[in-house]
Amino acid sequence: MSKKNSESNNKKQPGPARNIAKIPQELKDLFGFSAACSCGKVHSVELKGASIRPGAIDELVDWARQLGLGRTVCIVVDRKTRQLAGERVKKLLDKDGFKTSLCVVPDGKGNRPHADQAGLAYVEAALGGVDFAVAVGSGTLNDLTKLASFRKNIPYLVVATAPSMNGYTSAIAAVMLQGVKRTLDCHQPLAVIADLDIITRAPAELIAAGLGDLESKPTATADYRLSGAIRNDYYCAAPEQVVLQAEAKVAEAAADIGMRDPPAIALLTEALLLSGISMKLAGVSSPASGGEHLISHFWDMSAADEGRVEGWHGAQVGVATIVTATLYEQLGKLNPASINIDQLVAKSPGLDEIEARIKSRHATRAEEVFKEYKKKHLEPKQLRRELGTIVDGWDDLWAEIGQSLRPGAKVRSILAAARAPVSVSQLGLSPGHLRRAFVAAREIRGRYTVLDLAADLQILDTAGEAVLQASGCLAEG
Ligand SMILES: [Zn+2]
Ligand SMILES: [Zn+2]
Repeated sequence: MSKKNSESNNKKQPGPARNIAKIPQELKDLFGFSAACSCGKVHSVELKGASIRPGAIDELVDWARQLGLGRTVCIVVDRKTRQLAGERVKKLLDKDGFKTSLCVVPDGKGNRPHADQAGLAYVEAALGGVDFAVAVGSGTLNDLTKLASFRKNIPYLVVATAPSMNGYTSAIAAVMLQGVKRTLDCHQPLAVIADLDIITRAPAELIAAGLGDLESKPTATADYRLSGAIRNDYYCAAPEQVVLQAEAKVAEAAADIGMRDPPAIALLTEALLLSGISMKLAGVSSPASGGEHLISHFWDMSAADEGRVEGWHGAQVGVATIVTATLYEQLGKLNPASINIDQLVAKSPGLDEIEARIKSRHATRAEEVFKEYKKKHLEPKQLRRELGTIVDGWDDLWAEIGQSLRPGAKVRSILAAARAPVSVSQLGLSPGHLRRAFVAAREIRGRYTVLDLAADLQILDTAGEAVLQASGCLAEG
C-alpha cells in the first residue's frame, strides 16, 4: 500500500499532507466515522460502539439486537475465558432467545490457544451456518474470531477479558502461518464490550502487556513518518491524531494502571481501542507497528525452534520500544557531515550476501523472510541516492520524526511505574535473544523502519552493542 509518485526517491520529501481530514479524538465520536482526506483515502471506521464500564457485559444482548445481527450466534472462548465470561455471555444470549453454540479453542503450547493455522481452521469450522460470532478473550481469541468471521463473511462482537493489546479494534489479524508471523487484512468488530469488573481482574502481566503495546506508539509513529519521508510510502498524519492525547494520559497514569485502579484501566483500554482504530483509519498497521513490533515478532517466530513458548506480545513490544527509542536517540546525535556515503555504499552487502545471512539467521523460514526482505532492498545506485537524500535533508527529517519521539529512558520509566517488563530477562529471554533480534528482525518484513535506517548507516553492526547497552534492556533482573 504505498503511494508512489513519479518523483519518488530523489526529491526532498514533503511533510504531512496539507488539508488532511479532521478526525475526532473522542472514542464516542468515532463510531461509524468516515471522511475523505487529501491523502487520497477515505478514513473510515466500521466499529459501531464500545462500552468500557463496570457491568458492560449486560449490554451485549442490546448490541446484538440493535445491530440486527441475526439470531444464531457462535461464542468463541478458550478454557479460561469460558469461565471468566463465556458462560455468562451464553446465558445472556440464551435467555433472550438467541440460538447459541460455544466454540472452545483448544490449548496449545504453554496451556493457551495460539493464533495459527490450526486454531484458525478450528474457529472457521465452528462459524459455519451462524449469523454472527462473539469473541470472548483478548489477543488470540479476538484475532482468530476476527479473521474467521471475516472469511465467513459474518459480523462479530468482542467481549474483552484483558486490556492487553490494541488489536480489538484493528482491521488486521496477526497469525502465524508457515512459521512466519503475518498480519492479514480483515474487518473490525461491530462493538467492543470491555466490562471493568472483568478486565480489572485480568492477570497483572496482561495489563502490563497492554501498556507495553500502547507505549510503542511514539516509535511506531516515528517509523511510519520515516518510511513516508525516506521511501515515499503512504503516510497521512490524520489517523495518528486519534490516539496521541489518550496515550499521553495513559503514560501519566502508569503507576495507577499497575495498581489496577479502575479509572486508570479504563483509560488504558480506551487508548488501546483508539490505537486499533488509528490502524483502521490509516488502512495500514504502520501507525501502531514499527521496528519494535518486528523485534517482538522475531522472538515469536524463533520460539518454536527453541522449544520456547511465545511471550506476551505487548510485554515484548514494550521492551523492544525502549531499544528502538534509544536507537532513535543515538541516530539523532549523528553529524550528517560525518556520514561517508561512498564508504557506506562500498561496504553495503549485496543481495547474495544478504540471502546467505538470512539463511543462517532464520532457519526454516529463510525463504519466506528473503521474499519479504527483497521488497525493501536497494541496489547500490538506489542506496547512494537515498543516503544522499537523507544526509541533505537531515535536519528536516529529524524535525519531522522527532515530534512523536520519546527518549528510551522515559519509555522505561513509564513501563517501570506500572511494573511492566523493562529488560529481556524479565521477558524470560537472554541478552543473546535481543542481540540477534536487533540485527535480524528488520529482515522479516518489507516495511522500512528505524532498524533499516540504522542498517544502511551501518550502525546496527558497528554501534549496535552500544545502543543495546544504553537501552538498559540487556540488564539482569
Ligand atoms: Zn489522510
Ligand atoms: Zn502490538
